[in-house]
Amino acid sequence: MTLNRKKSRIIVIGANFAGLTAVSKLCKSHDVTVIDAKQDFQWTPNIHEILSDVKKETSLSLNLDTIITRLGHRFINQTVSSIDGALQTVTLDDKQILNYDVLLIASGHSRSNYGIKGASEYAYGFRTADDVIQIHNDIEALLNNNKHPVNISIVGAGFTGVEVLGELLRKYASNKQLHFNVIDSASRLLQALPEKLSDDVISQCKSYQVSFHFNQKIIEVKQSSIHFSDNKSIDSDLTIWSAGTKLPDYLNDINTPITSNGLAVNEYLQTTEFSSIFVAGDSATLSSSLPKQASIALDMGLHAALNINRFCDKKTLKPLKVRTKPILLSLGDINTYFVQGKLVLASPLLAAGKEAVYQFYMARLSALLPIEQRVLGIADRITLSTEKLLLVEILKLRPRVLIGRSKVL
Ligand SMILES: Cc1cc2nc3c(=O)[nH]c(=O)nc-3n(C[C@H](O)[C@H](O)[C@H](O)COP(=O)(O)OP(=O)(O)OC[C@H]3O[C@@H](n4cnc5c(N)ncnc54)[C@H](O)[C@@H]3O)c2cc1C
Repeated sequence: MTLNRKKSRIIVIGANFAGLTAVSKLCKSHDVTVIDAKQDFQWTPNIHEILSDVKKETSLSLNLDTIITRLGHRFINQTVSSIDGALQTVTLDDKQILNYDVLLIASGHSRSNYGIKGASEYAYGFRTADDVIQIHNDIEALLNNNKHPVNISIVGAGFTGVEVLGELLRKYASNKQLHFNVIDSASRLLQALPEKLSDDVISQCKSYQVSFHFNQKIIEVKQSSIHFSDNKSIDSDLTIWSAGTKLPDYLNDINTPITSNGLAVNEYLQTTEFSSIFVAGDSATLSSSLPKQASIALDMGLHAALNINRFCDKKTLKPLKVRTKPILLSLGDINTYFVQGKLVLASPLLAAGKEAVYQFYMARLSALLPIEQRVLGIADRITLSTEKLLLVEILKLRPRVLIGRSKVL
């Protein structure tokens, strides 16, 4: 006779890179509930390509309900409003309260406005495909109004800011109606990456209508202007906010240590205060600080699932061993950079590598969908990439230009 063992109730908050990967590896014998405010998994690292029509929202999304139900788990499409670590409960926006034995927080980061006046009202966020579609449509509307010039500002010259600039140049480089401003409080682009990379991006942009504003502290964003602490200001018809991120607000009252970067976790990905709460992806901060990257979130998600399964079975947990990952940064169709530590390679040909990573992981994640949806999705993504990226490059037949731009920085 088999014993009717009580199922562990596991709740996962957030089903993107870290959360969805974890969910796919949790034992089916557990009672797993997955909560996400969005209906779809979204491949964030390429959302900027919606600006240049190289990607569509559908080519970056996978339906969560279908995937999670097929995994044998329950999906709730809602926003979590609070967690009580002592009572082991999660409260949803509709006031529903759910109990858990083990909780995985994989809700990433959200936009930070640093309390700057007008930023939330007048600057567009850049976190989801919906944000990007809104920006895409509003730029087109400004151009159709025949305004001259149309000033577009990108606040925050980190990874996202540079990729946004590249995509806008891919689409609008020859449109003299547009002028781009890139603003940062730091003295250069891409503070976390080698300086030579910043220098190269700036020099590549010299022939375009781009102005860089470094060492600038913004004090206010208005509908059509940005104001700095030195009393200067610039015109800005559309301001894109890629300046910073923070933990989602619902985690503010969780009674476990929070660092500036996320929830502090030990090497097993458990919070320091509650052993039944695990954290993975951008929301987690280990003692050895890790970059906020999708590839690292995927690894953390896998590891969180391994340890949650072991925790439920009362087995010893395994420490996370993290490998640092190279970064592929694109500047539209101007150049793509491979960065590993101090090594920086620049080549437009590396764009194929970035595209291959996207195609490979989307195909792998979509293995959880029914066969017909999987095949249609793969066909759609490959057709779009061939049409918008590969054919464009092949038809330009400019191998000398492409190879000429390839170098070790
Ligand atoms: C524009 C852009 C470009 C990027 N480019 C790259 C790149 O080229 N390479 C790279 O490695 N990384 C890149 N990143 C970073 C990468 O996207 C993140 O590191 C990664 O998404 C983190 O994964 P995650 O699962 O921790 O969080 P996320 O992917 O942010 O997922 C969090 C999930 O939690 C959900 N959620 C949040 N709050 C709640 C709540 N209260 N209730 C319910 N659900 C909630 C969200 O809806 C979301 O689905 C980029 C990010 C952006 C924004």
